[in-house]
Amino acid sequence: MNIWQKYVIPQSIEEAIYYLTSAPGPARPIGGGTDLLLEIQQGHHQPVHTLVDVTRIPELLRLEEVGNQLFIGAAVPVKVITESSLVRYHASAVAEACGLIGGPQVRNTATLGGNVAHALPAADGMISLFAFDAQVEIASPAGRRFQSIQTLFTGPGQSTLDLSSEIIVGFYLPLRQSGQSSAFSRVMRPQGVALPILNMAVWMERDVQVIRDIHIAIGPSGPVPLRAVLVEQELIGKTPDLDTLKKAKEAIHQSIKFRSSAMRASAAYRHHLSEVLLEEVIGKAWQRAFELEAV
Ligand SMILES: Cc1cc2nc3c(=O)[nH]c(=O)nc-3n(C[C@H](O)[C@H](O)[C@H](O)COP(=O)(O)OP(=O)(O)OC[C@H]3O[C@@H](n4cnc5c(N)ncnc54)[C@H](O)[C@@H]3O)c2cc1C
Repeated sequence: MNIWQKYVIPQSIEEAIYYLTSAPGPARPIGGGTDLLLEIQQGHHQPVHTLVDVTRIPELLRLEEVGNQLFIGAAVPVKVITESSLVRYHASAVAEACGLIGGPQVRNTATLGGNVAHALPAADGMISLFAFDAQVEIASPAGRRFQSIQTLFTGPGQSTLDLSSEIIVGFYLPLRQSGQSSAFSRVMRPQGVALPILNMAVWMERDVQVIRDIHIAIGPSGPVPLRAVLVEQELIGKTPDLDTLKKAKEAIHQSIKFRSSAMRASAAYRHHLSEVLLEEVIGKAWQRAFELEAV
């Protein structure tokens, strides 16, 4: 038995929005379907009449430099993102995060648009975009708008997107400049669940021996993703030596209340892992900041 009534494959954004808004019952965009189809099947999502497949819309499949930004289309499969030399150079954290999503079959179809629109506070691709303060391009019946990813989420599985009429077109990230770098890491249960116990992404600007600027995103660190601002403040203007890292770790424990979850880990274990991941991502980004890789 089909878990939907109608499946349409528009070739343009306008056509996709038309299908969403004119469906005779609830309609939703679908990317790879690796989240949505399971949720509908398992009864965790309201029934859907029309699924609007956004993966054949050329604009959502672009992955290119646009002016001084990197554009990653919302329907680009995460496998393509992780293998893209452009993404690996300008946004290593995003390439690393996408390369860790699911297994090969999932990565062949899962999209970054779906990872973000699903709005879970530990989604790997989303956390990596958060560290870049990515701008999200959204198409709606009223036209296009741009929104910082930091203002997109309103609760677990909730966002400002109206998925009955809107679609994510893609994400804009700043191109990497001299001294800048990024890194992502996570700890995952070996099997069984789709989200990590804890993940962490960092974007850094290094000025020879000190961190000039840094963004840190940790998932899950609350009902919505947040930047670890107090931790960032401990690191800005400093060399990431043992003493600085110790203070940054203390800032994590003081400012973030990790949650215990039956499926994944206790809060105490997450606090422990946060120290391990912090050292790892800062170490990687610090080294990478002066590496001159060819695109
Ligand atoms: C076995 C397995 C392992 C997984 N492992 C991981 C993991 O390690 N890390 C992780 O983060 N996730 C994981 N996931 C979850 C999932 O694969 C990712 O979140 C994936 O990126 C979702 O993308 P999708 O294209 O499949 O989304 P879909 O399932 O197609 O859609 C998800 C949601 O986004 C909406 N949507 C999709 N595209 C758009 C768009 N362009 N604009 C607006 N709304 C849109 C849909 O309506 C739906 O609400 C796993 C899933 C499975 C089944």
